[in-house]
Amino acid sequence: MGKNIIFLGAPGAGKGTFASLLTEKASLIHISTGDIFRREIKNETEIGKKAKKYVESGGLVPDEIVAEMVTKRLSEPDCVNGVILDGFPRTLNQAQLLKNALKNINMKIDKVIYFEAGDDLLIKRLTARIMCKQCNENFNKLFSPPKVEGKCDKCGGELYQRKDDSLETAKSRLELFYKETSPLIDFYKNEKLLLSLNSEREKDVVMKDLLKLLL
Ligand code: AMP
Repeated sequence: MGKNIIFLGAPGAGKGTFASLLTEKASLIHISTGDIFRREIKNETEIGKKAKKYVESGGLVPDEIVAEMVTKRLSEPDCVNGVILDGFPRTLNQAQLLKNALKNINMKIDKVIYFEAGDDLLIKRLTARIMCKQCNENFNKLFSPPKVEGKCDKCGGELYQRKDDSLETAKSRLELFYKETSPLIDFYKNEKLLLSLNSEREKDVVMKDLLKLLL
């Protein structure tokens, strides 16, 4: 299985869901920049204070803040067995910052998985998404509801809808993906790292294909 993997894709394409499933099968560390920001905001840390306005409005946190945060995380000892970067990089500048930072800490990206899904489905998924307050597990009112309404299957935590999953903010996040993040598809194609995955299908089918791509 590839060691250091980037999950690339629009919001709602399944990056977080499959990263979480994959960490159950492989000893990879799941680094979700969105989850880190939400935690820092909840704990009212310095990073949280800086990121709050961007995260809640669906904008992008400035590149330098994100890149520094990820580089610091990647330097921690538990990352030596491999990581899944979920939600980072999100701009060409971040990709370049990551490339330079990895060189410095003697790491490299092995594969970039591009989760593909159409806009209508993405919006449907985002606006029906609910998340655990405690462990960040994702559920979906339409496609993968929890066993008990309002409660996380994994830890029993309370489920909530993210502020940025409202219809209006979800639409603007999608626009931002096409404007700022989609150029990374060509960037990683040129680096010969990009593998595409149709993530519109049933979870089990996507997972099977994902495991094949990571062999
Ligand atoms: P996510 O959970 O990946 O959808 O991220 C939630 C929010 O966190 C995004 O809408 C951004 O405001 C912020 N965020 C997460 N990752 C990044 C990143 N790589 N660059 C800038 N902002 C980010």
